[in-house]
Amino acid sequence: MNRRHLVYLDYAATTPVDSEIAAAMADCLQSPYGFANPSSNHVAGRQSAELVERARAQVGALLNAEPRDLAFTSGATESNNLAIFGAARHRAHRGKHLITMTTEHKSVIECFEALQREGFDVTWLDPDKSGKLDPQLLEAAIRDDTQLVSVMHINNETGVIQDIASIAAICHRRDVLYHCDAAQSAGKLPLDIAALGIDLLSLTGHKFYGPQGAGALFVADRPGCQLEPLLFGGSQERRRRPGTHAVHQILGLGLAAELALSRLAADLPHCRRLRERLWLGIRDLPGLCRNGDEKETFAGILNVSTAGVDGESLMLALEPLCVARGSACNAQSGESSFVLRAMGRSDALAQSAIRFSFGRETTNDDIDVAIERFRWAVNHLGKLRPPETATATRA
Ligand SMILES: *Cc1c(COP(=O)(O)O)cnc(C)c1O
Repeated sequence: MNRRHLVYLDYAATTPVDSEIAAAMADCLQSPYGFANPSSNHVAGRQSAELVERARAQVGALLNAEPRDLAFTSGATESNNLAIFGAARHRAHRGKHLITMTTEHKSVIECFEALQREGFDVTWLDPDKSGKLDPQLLEAAIRDDTQLVSVMHINNETGVIQDIASIAAICHRRDVLYHCDAAQSAGKLPLDIAALGIDLLSLTGHKFYGPQGAGALFVADRPGCQLEPLLFGGSQERRRRPGTHAVHQILGLGLAAELALSRLAADLPHCRRLRERLWLGIRDLPGLCRNGDEKETFAGILNVSTAGVDGESLMLALEPLCVARGSACNAQSGESSFVLRAMGRSDALAQSAIRFSFGRETTNDDIDVAIERFRWAVNHLGKLRPPETATATRA
């Protein structure tokens, strides 16, 4: 494939690494002051330990969190596993009821499924048609033996933003821990952990211009918020996540956090303008509908379905546009999006969904190519479809 023609609109799957961050990571790998084991007691080790602590302060600043309450991990999948298994098992003697949503990321859903097999009782909440959780539904689901609630901030497929302040407040009133998978929002939306009162929060560097394989878990410093570790064998990260630090990865994550903090105010309106341009360019297509509450979705994601069009054929016809069907994680399974079905979309509409996602480095030209390509693909596939579905109405 000719690389020059690629238009990358899959920022929700992974963002490009900022070039200065990539250079700093390469330097770190090549200098003993960077690559030395931070647990070593020589001068190089002490220096690389300092790099790790600087990164911790940078991530702390992004979240308004105490740096010491952050544990570095390999990404949000690991952070989610550590938070959910760790908290559920630590509090199992108090009760075994847990609550989450059907529209969470697989790295949350599959933890709860595994805990169910271990004997935990899980309540799965559905969103409304717009993708949002009704706080009253959560309130009603909490029982005396509930220990943990996990609800994500921005949904990775639709961009729907949950009201995490209300969710955290409800959890606190009932003495339940609240975990938030913020993989899509950290570095993109303002997040003030202290003000929100979140107990556990997961993030990952490669969703905000840092490297893949570097993430963090915030663990609030308060009684009752403790974790059973998943890994054993060292005292790193206060025994929550033992193992030699990946210094260059952590450095990249810290720099990405620092950059995000300074770019947040410019990135969001940039995304908003791009999304408006894209939506105005395609919205008149026959059978097209938008997935997710229009006002309360993250500006860097536009998810649309097209009645009567097959999603897989559409993906092929869109090449070399890099977009997603649902999320990257279920792309291989060929199933229609479980997130969209949970929002009440028909199987056919969920099946045709395409997620455009973009960010800091996306240009108007990229969006214009996407509009042209998408219009061509939908019209082209529309001509091939049988006449009875060609007139499918808007959902
Ligand atoms: C990307 C993502 C994850 C997983 O992050 P990794 O860094 O790949 O482990 C988890 N949750 C959400 C919502 C995501 O978007």
